[in-house]
Amino acid sequence: MTLAERNQKHNWHPYTQHKTAQRPIAIVKGEGALLWDEDGKEYIDAIASWWVNPYGHSNPVIADAIYKQLTTLEHVLFGGFTHEPAVELSEKLIAVLPANQNKLFYSDNGSTSVEIAIKVSMQYFFNKGVKKTKIIAFEDAFHGDTFGAMAASGISFFMEAFKDSLIEVVRIPVPTAGNEELSLKTLKDLAVTNEFAAFIFEPLVQGAAGMVMYEAEVLDKLIAICKENQVFTIADEVMTGFGKTGKNFACDYLTEMPDMMCISKALTGGAIPMAITSFTQEIFDGFYDDDINKALFHGHTFTANPTGCAAALASLQLLQSDEMQANIARVNKSHLVFESKIKQHPKVVTTRVLGVIFALEIKTENAESYYGTFRNKLYNFFIENGVILRPVGNIVYILPPYVMTDTQLTKTYNLIERALNTF
Ligand SMILES: *Cc1c(COP(=O)(O)O)cnc(C)c1O
Repeated sequence: MTLAERNQKHNWHPYTQHKTAQRPIAIVKGEGALLWDEDGKEYIDAIASWWVNPYGHSNPVIADAIYKQLTTLEHVLFGGFTHEPAVELSEKLIAVLPANQNKLFYSDNGSTSVEIAIKVSMQYFFNKGVKKTKIIAFEDAFHGDTFGAMAASGISFFMEAFKDSLIEVVRIPVPTAGNEELSLKTLKDLAVTNEFAAFIFEPLVQGAAGMVMYEAEVLDKLIAICKENQVFTIADEVMTGFGKTGKNFACDYLTEMPDMMCISKALTGGAIPMAITSFTQEIFDGFYDDDINKALFHGHTFTANPTGCAAALASLQLLQSDEMQANIARVNKSHLVFESKIKQHPKVVTTRVLGVIFALEIKTENAESYYGTFRNKLYNFFIENGVILRPVGNIVYILPPYVMTDTQLTKTYNLIERALNTF
């Protein structure tokens, strides 16, 4: 039996209707931007395996750091204990996070980093005897699939079963070109009611919505409104963090600074599940008290796992290397050249580029749903031709590992162009 056949027996896959879905492809090896399946077929991983892998698959620098850590101290509980990799990683991250960030809480995936930010926002006010329990979020936001994160997400494939069990979230329009004033006004009207603990957003790029982009200036204004009205701001940089937008963090494009940040995905270069929620000192101080009940009673067994921290330290070093910064600039330039060429194509509605992120909307007869037939046709075409791209409805995006070569980028662009001419 092949791996793909054996897989069918016991594995339940994410976002998958197993009755109608094709059999998952069994990958046996990865290197750089390439993956190989069990039949030896080669794929270009043009979406960095759901945006986690900027430095290439099976990166030897990260692998060495993990091995060294595994044979020194693989894990120790973080309740009552600490260790060198967590201390050093926190020092190095605080040095690159927005200047107001000072305390880090470790967890193990993007959704939990969001849960923690939401819980902290609500408990901060509870500790002060203030009732603020609602959250503001963007339409079409994606913040994860656990209950709090799911409530904050505007994109949800199936929320009906849970909709009576969620925290209260009110949505505001995304401030894309032309919608800035409406977005600002809607936020202001909510912020002044004193009912909201926090405003959570994906800064500058909404990944799961199809790399929807908006400007830093309007986000600055949205954050300023929240500051004036004591509504915490949570920048969910789970997707945008660690160079995707061309800077270390999307928030580096801002003048205002968020109160909290969520990071995960590329944190460990895609090697080990880990996430962090970062906070200002002011927020931490809202829990600092003689009363034990004011503490944040939240934790995960693998909080600040030393091996994950070691992988993150190696990843940060890679990100900061001249070589990787040059790769980010190279990919961005390459995207811009392709954009100027392809945007004239009669099938293209619009294109957008920020950092290593490229997105293109295809003209279609009907509105295309997230996992609709048009999308599936495109997906299958790309897979057949050895490129992993996961279109969102009629939006095709590229978010490659920074190490993707010019040849691999060209092959990806050419295939997208062929798709435009075919469908
Ligand atoms: C992927 C993602 C999450 C959820 O992270 P998981 O690790 O999948 O739980 C949250 N927010 C954003 C912006 C994401 O892209």
